[in-house]
Amino acid sequence: MKDCLNQFSYVGYSGSVKHGGHLFYRCRCGCKGEKTLPLTRADEKIIKSSQPEVHKVWHVFCRKFGVSSGWKFRGAELQDAVEKWAEKYPEDVQIVGCDDNHFMSSILVLIEHQAKDRYMGTSVIFIPQNEDAPSDFFLYPGHRGALEKALAIIWRKSQKTMNRQNKVDRARFRYFGKRAKDLK
Ligand SMILES: [Zn+2]
Repeated sequence: MKDCLNQFSYVGYSGSVKHGGHLFYRCRCGCKGEKTLPLTRADEKIIKSSQPEVHKVWHVFCRKFGVSSGWKFRGAELQDAVEKWAEKYPEDVQIVGCDDNHFMSSILVLIEHQAKDRYMGTSVIFIPQNEDAPSDFFLYPGHRGALEKALAIIWRKSQKTMNRQNKVDRARFRYFGKRAKDLK
């Protein structure tokens, strides 16, 4: 077994100065040796300045529409309210259409968890037009990338399929168009 390097890398922090927080260090040699330092005010200042409010818009959304405390509206009423609210955040909120399980026009609301120098991920909220409760999930950058790839594959395949479909549809219309000669 090789000797321990006794060299420590910063791995993270916990808590705050007020509540006796710590900085955590782990030995680089892989021996799993750990050391801690008590968090100082200077440390805390740097932590705060490097973590601006990435969740700001999400928190505004949650408070306004009651995500964790119970949705304040549902269905079309909620869709309308969210679409109006989103106009205030063109950089952070996007809305795309979809259908719910009753084939009624519904929406996906995409809310960025971002700040000037930071992107953490995207919240997606499904708001069905039927009166079911909305649901939401979070995409980390890796998830978002995987979803983009999956949608790109679907897009490529569906283009070919839809081209064939158009040919079949046009042929059918030509056939029934010719049947017009039988009209009396
Ligand atoms: Zn070590």
